[in-house]
Amino acid sequence: MKHIIILGTAHLRTTPGKCSPDGRLREYAYSREIVTSLESALKALGYTVFVDYRPAEPDAQMKADTWRKMQNRELACRVAVVNSICKRYGVENCIYVSIHLNAAGADGKWHRARGFSVYVSPDASNSSRRLASLFTSTAKRMNLIGNRCVPSQNYWTASLYVLRRAFCPAVLTENLFQDNREDVDFLLSEEGKQAVVDLHVKAIEAY
Ligand SMILES: [Zn+2]
Repeated sequence: MKHIIILGTAHLRTTPGKCSPDGRLREYAYSREIVTSLESALKALGYTVFVDYRPAEPDAQMKADTWRKMQNRELACRVAVVNSICKRYGVENCIYVSIHLNAAGADGKWHRARGFSVYVSPDASNSSRRLASLFTSTAKRMNLIGNRCVPSQNYWTASLYVLRRAFCPAVLTENLFQDNREDVDFLLSEEGKQAVVDLHVKAIEAY
């Protein structure tokens, strides 16, 4: 049986930062564009696909909160969607892939770090780690790994809320750097967008 694929969009339009220094690339919008293309590509291959949270704007209730509370509510919303799908289809039948862009600094400047990386939670299951390793090996084959590659390390670990709380195998992909000029040029090209979609399709198919 093919796995149920739950795709995660990144952030909200109102999330501070999260864009290229020149403002050409915004993570919330880019992630949603990739998720939409990837959803079509996966459906064409026969997968059942869900998206954790698609709106770019905070809902009315979130808007009334402080920013920190709004973010907590947004993340809780995403996890509630993921885990309700896990309950419906079975944890081992689902995977969750949250799609983001990396940043080397939060200072609004360009940086040198480039390339793809993937995160799992520190307490991640073997299935999550296997999925993450497949993303890294696929990115290496596609020459998307950039200059941060640590040969012995197949993935990074971070205690990210959505990874910690999702019941099913879960990874967060950081699709190149939104504060590196070369990465931004590539990400905004049709070739770059297709490469990000293809990377996800190939890693999911390998899993
Ligand atoms: Zn992000």
